[in-house]
Order: sequence, then C-alpha cells, then structure tokens
Amino acid sequence: MGNHMKCVQKLSLFLASLVLALLTLSAVSVDRLKGHVSWLADPAREGRQASTAGAAAAADYIAQQFKEIGCDVQMQDFGRMRRNVIGRIGTAQRYLLFGAHYDGQGPGMPSASDNAAGVAVIIEIMRELKAKELPVSLVAVAFDDEEQGLNGSRYYSDHPPYPLENTQAALIFDTLGRPFMDLATWTMFVLGAEYSKELAAVIQKRSRPEMLVAGTDLIGPRSDFAPFAVKHVPYLFFSHATHKDYHGPGDTADRVNYAKLAEDASFISLIAEDIARLPAQPKYLTEPVYPPGESASLENELQLVEKERSDVPQAFRLMFDDFRARLKSDSSREVRRIATSVLLALATPRLSSFMLSFFIGPYYERENRSELAVAAYEEALKWTSDAAERRDLEEKIRALR
Ligand SMILES: [Zn+2]
Repeated sequence: MGNHMKCVQKLSLFLASLVLALLTLSAVSVDRLKGHVSWLADPAREGRQASTAGAAAAADYIAQQFKEIGCDVQMQDFGRMRRNVIGRIGTAQRYLLFGAHYDGQGPGMPSASDNAAGVAVIIEIMRELKAKELPVSLVAVAFDDEEQGLNGSRYYSDHPPYPLENTQAALIFDTLGRPFMDLATWTMFVLGAEYSKELAAVIQKRSRPEMLVAGTDLIGPRSDFAPFAVKHVPYLFFSHATHKDYHGPGDTADRVNYAKLAEDASFISLIAEDIARLPAQPKYLTEPVYPPGESASLENELQLVEKERSDVPQAFRLMFDDFRARLKSDSSREVRRIATSVLLALATPRLSSFMLSFFIGPYYERENRSELAVAAYEEALKWTSDAAERRDLEEKIRALR
C-alpha cells in the first residue's frame, strides 16, 4: 500500500472515531442513568413509598440532581410528608414539561423500572436539552404518591406553579427499561398523540418499528398523564410497559437494561426537541383522532408473543387467535381495549386473575362465546388463592357450562 493510501486510511479512521465521539457526546449517558436508578431503587430507600423516609430521601436526591444541572428547584409540599420536586430551566413563558413519579411500592419492592427509570430519564433529558438553546423553557416534575391514585400529579395540575396554558406539551414517563412481556423484541408504547394533531405529526415523523402508537383508552387513566388530560394539556406518555416483575420484589435495578434506556432516552429527547421547536403551541383535541396503525400494531404484538414465548397457556393462545381475527374484522375501541387487556394479563401473572375475571371473561360472556369465557375464568383460577374469588369464579364456570 502506498503512502498516500495509508494517509487516506488514517484520515478516515480519524474521522470515523471523531463521528463516534460526537455521537457519544450527544447521547444520554448509560452510567448516569444506572447511577440514578441504582440509588433510587437501593434497599435503603425501602421502596420509596409516599409519606416515608425513603421517599423523602429520594426527593432530596432528585432535587440535588436538578440543581447540579442548573435548574431552579422547588419542592411542592402536599401534606403527609409528600412532595413533588420541580426543576425549571429557562425564562421563556412557554415551556415543555417532563414528568415521572418517583414514589414506589414500599418495603421489599425496589420499584426500579417503575419508576426510578422514568425519573432517571427526565433528569438526563433535562441535561441533554439544556445545551440546545430551545425556544421554550424546560420544566421537570418528579411526582410523589402516584401509586395510590395519581395524587402528586393531580395536586400539581390543580396547583401549577407555572400556568398550565403555557405548556407546549407534557411528556410523561412510567415503567421503562425492561421489555414488554419479557420478550426479546422491545415495544415502546406511545400514547396521547390522538389528542393533538401537532404531536401526532411529530410522532409520525419520528416513527420506529418498535413504537406502538395507540389511543390512551387502551390502558385507561393509569399514570400521571391523566390529570393533564383532564385539564386539556396536550400530552404524550412513554412506557416500555409491564413485565413479570412489575409491582413485584423482582423489579430490581440490576434487571434494567441501561443501554436500551439510554438509547430510547436519547431518541425521546429528539422528539422533545421537535416539539419544543413547533412554530405554534399544540392544541388539545376534545375529540380524539386515533392513530391509523393502531390495530396492525396490536396484531403484530400478539404475533410477536406467540412467536417468542413458548410458555403461553392454552387459554391465552385461544384468546390470541380470537383477537387476531377480531382485530381484522372489527374496528371498535372495545375490541382493541380487550386485546390490550389480554396482553397485559399475560405480561404480569400477579395481575392475570384480576384482568381475566373482570374484563376478559365478562367480555366473552357479552359476546356469547361461553367456551372462551370459561377458558378465561379457568385461567384466572390458576392465579388466585383468595377463597371468595375462587368460589365466585367456580360459580361463573358452572353457570356457563
Ligand atoms: Zn408507575
């Protein structure tokens, strides 16, 4: 090889490593995310249950992190030792809000993916976006007391320190860093775009195969986006959703995939930047416009589970087959809602019995598909040891036979 070629080769190697370095510089740090989640989910925090010393320590930690980034920080006290932690960067009236709850399930429950990971993500997205000279301010809120009824976010939206009408959008994060249903393929649920044309356009532009863009009604008002929706603040909700350790003692910091968390946090910060730079403030649609790919995404998800998991009980296999056919022929919200419940019931065995008994079984009874209702109730029986619940289920099965 001649000298000239060597030189070109060296130069291109140098350029490649420079590009790599720049990419790494502009990405959310894996180590920082891991540091936050490990600290918040440490046994010393005792599961960060609202009104306990562990939650108070978590709030102080988050306030310190916000300060280090350069935020103005305030603690919003709402009684019984509960506090929302609010950090703000910038003086523009209009602001983009990032929210994630930091409280957890209490002693023995590390609550790492739910939702130390969400808090870590909002801290690092604030750091990432601070350098961007955006036309809006940034407000991050770590909510307290979500687990017992969205109390922190409700208090915040009823007593906003900055006028809610100046919100460009609220981006809410809950349950991140573990793959939905413990699959090898990741799914990122993105909900809320149905209430804003402008946000839907951003999501459409940034769309990725693993994004499951769906209407919020498929999961219901289950996280901190709900009080913002009530106030008609345009919002997006991001979640990797539930897994076998959701709300259980196995939701530990070492089981969170930090490389994936960092990748998705970087990606979401691009979405946030797009939203921050929208020429006009997004408007809240009172009549939702549901995403066109929703049904196909759900069918795809059912297919993925059947392909990747060999441990799907027979009752679920029957329901999966049924819903794959139904999703093709019936475009009602109900079919999509129940199909989502079937997925969520399988994702977390601890919650299976509840969803099968109260949503899925009754649906099949209404549809006059008694064999599937029986299958649902029999599957529910496997997951509950409560005597009254068992009697109730056995009675339902007898009546249907
Ligand atoms: Zn949560």
